[in-house]
Amino acid sequence: MQTKHNVGILGATGMVGQRFIQLLETHPWFQVTWLAASDRSSGKPYGEAVRWKLDTPIPAAIAALPVSAATPENAPRIVFAALDTDIARDMEPKFASAGCAVISNSSAFRMQDNVPLVIPEVNADHLALISQQNWNTSVKKRGYIVTNPNCSAIGLVLALKPLAVRFGLRSVFVSTMQAVSGAGYPGVPSLDILGNVVPFIRNEEEKLEAETRRLLGKLEKDRVAPLDVRVSAHCNRVAVEDGHTESVSVELDSKPTREEILSAWREFQPLREANLPTAPLQPIEYDAAEDRPQPRLDRMRGRGMAVTVGRLRPCTLLDWKFTVLSHNTIRGAAGAALLNAELLASQEKLLPPGASS
Ligand code: NAP
Repeated sequence: MQTKHNVGILGATGMVGQRFIQLLETHPWFQVTWLAASDRSSGKPYGEAVRWKLDTPIPAAIAALPVSAATPENAPRIVFAALDTDIARDMEPKFASAGCAVISNSSAFRMQDNVPLVIPEVNADHLALISQQNWNTSVKKRGYIVTNPNCSAIGLVLALKPLAVRFGLRSVFVSTMQAVSGAGYPGVPSLDILGNVVPFIRNEEEKLEAETRRLLGKLEKDRVAPLDVRVSAHCNRVAVEDGHTESVSVELDSKPTREEILSAWREFQPLREANLPTAPLQPIEYDAAEDRPQPRLDRMRGRGMAVTVGRLRPCTLLDWKFTVLSHNTIRGAAGAALLNAELLASQEKLLPPGASS
């Protein structure tokens, strides 16, 4: 790619917005030229508006950039969105109808028939749904919304996809242990979470179940037919800073051996030829140690983009059980959106007019 694309970040001051800034700092294809957040932040230099929570410094050029009002007038044609769902529902269509590619993290449009819900390694073909969107009739304002899944669904579905393809997937039981950063900032009050487990995250189980079926589903003409698989999810919040852990049991159509399952994960490299800068070489890393994966030790594998799987063993209720770990604000949010944007940029015809700087 010769010239970099200008990109903006909506919700730039939040937990996911900060990850976008960190991941985009040295990105070879994209440069951040525009930031927006709420009225609380707009008009201030980013460095003053943000409560920076990451362990690398704010890039100097970004700290000085003013936070804009969250309106599309001066926004670049590619906008990463990290907004709360209620705000996204109102705001993302405004940017799409002004001609922006909105690469969204929120759940507002994930289940809408004509909006792709995409993990590039799993269902890149679902991007074709972009052509079904019609936010503005002007050809020059051919904007759209593309979404990435819920932070728990990404790790789970990456681990399930090779099993679904090779062996057929009948049922999935999953119990999550989700990090506090998944609730944004300031998130769960410390008195609720320290030394504790909260066995409820509003709407999370419903999202994890429905998104898993849609991500593994088949693209039809103008919609996705969800995979006919039974998914039962329990979602828990635990006192971990970053990294969602999931205990998973699966029932499969054919009855593979342990070695066949390990081969399916090892050989799953669908983006090997795609040359996307954020794609991990090995999206699923299996760790054979008896006590891995663990969030503190394994969440940064593949620069936070690989999913670590471990503890594969027979399940007495279904067929096999295992543990999955993924970084919730990288693979589960900003990194996921960035990979979606790279996939779009690698097929230039998919970008809206004016997206090249
Ligand atoms: P967050 O930390 O609460 O950040 C929210 C951002 O939205 C802030 O930048 C805030 O700006 C901005 N904002 C609030 N009201 C606004 C308004 N009226 N107009 C424009 N901007 C406004 O949330 P987050 O954790 O980053 O999550 C963002 C989205 O990503 C959510 O939909 C979440 O479900 C999703 N997501 C999060 C994770 C995760 O692990 N955290 C993972 C996957 C998906 P101010 O600072 O100015 O208030």
